[in-house]
Amino acid sequence: MSSVPVAVVTGSNKGIGLAIVRALCKQFPGDVYLTSRDPGSGQAAVAQLQQEGLRPLYHQLDIDDVQSIRALRDFLKEKYGGLNVLVNNAGIAFKVHDTTPFAVQAEVTLKTNFFGTRNVCTELLPLMKPYGRVVNVSSMVSSSALRGCSQELQQKFRSDTITEDELVQLMAKFVEDTKKSVHEKEGWPNTAYGVSKIGVTVLSRIQARLLNEQRKGDHILLNACCPGWVRTDMAGPKATKSPDEGAETPVYLALLPSSADAPHGQFVSDKTVRPW
Ligand code: NAP
Repeated sequence: MSSVPVAVVTGSNKGIGLAIVRALCKQFPGDVYLTSRDPGSGQAAVAQLQQEGLRPLYHQLDIDDVQSIRALRDFLKEKYGGLNVLVNNAGIAFKVHDTTPFAVQAEVTLKTNFFGTRNVCTELLPLMKPYGRVVNVSSMVSSSALRGCSQELQQKFRSDTITEDELVQLMAKFVEDTKKSVHEKEGWPNTAYGVSKIGVTVLSRIQARLLNEQRKGDHILLNACCPGWVRTDMAGPKATKSPDEGAETPVYLALLPSSADAPHGQFVSDKTVRPW
């Protein structure tokens, strides 16, 4: 078993994820895994970084596929005996003018952004080694979507006692409410992406609380963040930040020094803790 530290970035064949791998290859003292659902685009991204003189490693990972997540889990357990840095970056967004029915957009978006990210956490968080760092890439849109929720929902999503099961039920309820076209009446905002990212931010707050309760002595720090508005296939060419600039806050959180005890359980953008 290798004692080399290991970092994994989900959805890192392009965009912000690829830039996070690039930065970690330069700054993280260990093995850095670029992962992708499609091995071809993942290997092409590895080749691109090799051209830049970097040495990322590769593993397949489709966060929508529990078997794929478990294969990575077993590989990490066997080869490294755990994991030091996990960046949950993989995500999807329908374009604003996409005509796919809203209920379908809600189901598909929540499936990857919330349920897929949660499944990765369920399988990989138990592997986190002491002083591990977990970064869940959310979005500022989670904050604006939160403000668009009914007072009752806002209270639930800001609660310091909400459980993971309760959050999962709320995310599933949103999808069901869109199918019945009652989501607005039920207090939800009209954004599937926004609700999925509320889920990612609240999940991060819950997971940080559980780490405090169950693994206090392990000094693991877990946060949600927004990378900013970044020029990628998702956000388009008009966005203000380059992918490398978008990677800065996630990488800052992934490399918090072992002496740090904060931020933890926070929502962070531009390396600054934001109110939730
Ligand atoms: P992107 O260029 O579209 O990249 C998204 C990445 O996620 C791709 O590698 C994609 O793989 C991967 N992915 C999607 N579904 C996956 C799955 N089921 N399993 C594994 N990988 C999957 O988007 P981006 O802008 O870099 O976004 C990265 C993250 O930042 C997302 O979570 C996004 O919501 C968040 N974010 C972005 C912005 C922005 O302005 N760009 C702002 C706030 C937050 P494929 O190539 O196979 O599709």
